[in-house]
Amino acid sequence: MPSSVNTFPIKISTNTLAKLTKLNITNIWDLALHLPLRYEDETHITPIADAQNGVPVQIEATVIHQQIQFRPRKQLVVQVQDVSGHVLYLRFLHFYPNQQKQLAEGNVIRALGEIRHGFFGDEMVHPKIRTDIDKGLAESLTPVYPTVNGLNQPALRRLIQAALKHLPADDTLPAELLQQLQLPPLLESLIFLHSPPPEYTARDLHEGTLPAWQRLKFDELLAQQLSMRLARQQRLNGHAKALTGNGHISEHLLANLSFTLTEAQQRALAEITDDLAQTHPMHRLLQGDVGSGKTIVCALAAAIAIEAGFQVAVMAPTEILAEQHYLKFTQWFSPLGIQIARLSGSMRKKARDEARKELADGTAQLAIGTHALFQDDVTFHNLGLIIVDEQHRFGVAQRLALKNKGEDVHQLMMSATPIPRTLAMSFFADLDVSVIDELPPGRTPVITRLVNTARRHEVEKLVKHTCAQGRQVYWVCPLIEESEVLQLQTAVDTVAELQTALPELNIGLIHGRLKPAEKAAVMTAFVEGSIQVLVATTVIEVGVDVPNASLMVIEHAERMGLAQLHQLRGRVGRGAAASRCVLLFSEPLSDVAKARLKVIYENTDGFEIARQDLNIRGPGEFLGARQSGVPMLRFANLEEDLPILEKARDLAPVLISQQPEVVNKHLQRWLSQRSAYLGV
Ligand code: ADP
Ligand code: MG
Repeated sequence: MPSSVNTFPIKISTNTLAKLTKLNITNIWDLALHLPLRYEDETHITPIADAQNGVPVQIEATVIHQQIQFRPRKQLVVQVQDVSGHVLYLRFLHFYPNQQKQLAEGNVIRALGEIRHGFFGDEMVHPKIRTDIDKGLAESLTPVYPTVNGLNQPALRRLIQAALKHLPADDTLPAELLQQLQLPPLLESLIFLHSPPPEYTARDLHEGTLPAWQRLKFDELLAQQLSMRLARQQRLNGHAKALTGNGHISEHLLANLSFTLTEAQQRALAEITDDLAQTHPMHRLLQGDVGSGKTIVCALAAAIAIEAGFQVAVMAPTEILAEQHYLKFTQWFSPLGIQIARLSGSMRKKARDEARKELADGTAQLAIGTHALFQDDVTFHNLGLIIVDEQHRFGVAQRLALKNKGEDVHQLMMSATPIPRTLAMSFFADLDVSVIDELPPGRTPVITRLVNTARRHEVEKLVKHTCAQGRQVYWVCPLIEESEVLQLQTAVDTVAELQTALPELNIGLIHGRLKPAEKAAVMTAFVEGSIQVLVATTVIEVGVDVPNASLMVIEHAERMGLAQLHQLRGRVGRGAAASRCVLLFSEPLSDVAKARLKVIYENTDGFEIARQDLNIRGPGEFLGARQSGVPMLRFANLEEDLPILEKARDLAPVLISQQPEVVNKHLQRWLSQRSAYLGV
């Protein structure tokens, strides 16, 4: 929307309109919903003597001295005294000539800020100064809004007050419903928050339990619930090809396996098979702990789709994982005469063009790759199923791109991370879930040891011992976020060090900078056993599967997140041999690092680890939305507002079936707002 068009029923200058656009305010409702960040109390004067340390107060006093000091740096220091006779220093590290004028000796001023009782006396740093003291005191708290340069608080306040006067008084929700929910009308709630009644303190107003806040949170969550439900209905009414196979590929695939499926795998596969046979798109999450065997389940789903005559795309979050899948799927599918195309970001143009051609003309029935699979220039002959591995590793933007590409295609997502309950009820509400809650038989739990880096030579002995028994070892180098080059250097040093200590062993190195073909060569050598110790940067984190590896050494484990540690540890313990995971750490340990190491040491169940992880990180982190900048919810907070979320969830289906006009009205008002009601 061009910023010069005034869609407001009040007069606003072009210049101000541009500023409002910067704040994402483009209509009268946006203005009304632009709520205060905090409130300032200018309703009374506190004697300097009564001010408590660190509590914001307004004082009224006469300037008795003004001085510019140069130590420790240039600053304006103003000495004031109030009627109680107490003296206070006002300190400004940045100041303008007109402030000096405001604070001339003899002037009476009001200053708003926190008083600190310092060594040299009481002081206020950068208080807000008022000189219009003859105007009297404010009658209620003063709201302070988020704003941009060039649009000051009083101007924004005036605009919002004008907007409130022009808002239609009719509510989106019927009065009897509000009464039942014990919620106030929306307009009343907004007026309350923008101009709080005098008896409320700033602290009261920050309480999310205030009815006015509850109303806003409820409305927002209800809009999300309604749109999610409607989206689900739309999906169920939508069209996709029903994929039913005759078993000629899947049965061969099963027969060629060296193991039989666990009951949990069979159950998940049955649920997926059911979904694929429907004429509306599947939207299912396959959830199972690291090592629970999700890959074969999705391969069997792929086999069914291919039997039905359709193409399947398998997308992985990293090139190494895509490569692993490629090797595995080749081993499973090539003997059955299935053509597989590989696509990743770092491929040469010629190979890429070749793969694109095979997918466009249908020569290849399977596509395996990174998110490069869903770039604009990739077209499929007849895509029937999309499989997304390690779904939680993809950002919101990538998920949305996929959503757009795969509108009428069945989708199967896989994740080792359980979804927190509030997210399952909100952003993930349109996702059916299958759980693999059982590990393949014969696994012995991985033994975890915490070892101080100072004792790493003992760990080298353990490496030697492990390899002497014909087993293999992963050695993971520390994550160095600041510098990829430094991280690589550390890995190179580690290889040299281990090679010196253990000259009889063959030590390989894998890292993110290698070309795909080089990575593949290293991985193949490790899978075949010609490399015994694989030194790696954290690129091996997800999905790599070499059952003969029985020792995992992780350096600087204290720098890693819980999910990452659990994923890494899950690389061993995949065969029947007893496996170990050594977590090397360096002192001193922060409290958070200690807590994390304790969790990973005490737990092997990925669901429990994830639960504790979420306690630390919160659902917002989980969604990956904070990083990608996609707005989530503006008013509700999934960490705290479960009771409201439950109410909204229960009400949504009732409204949809009984009061569609209320649904329309509510969505119309709220969908123009900036929250992301999208499902994932
Ligand atoms: P994840 O769920 O972490 O993706 P994978 O699919 O990589 O796990 O499987 C882990 C290992 O377990 C693989 O080596 C796989 O071949 C093996 N596996 C899978 N299912 C079974 C089973 N039913 N019995 C024995 N081994 C299995
Ligand atoms: Mg996996």
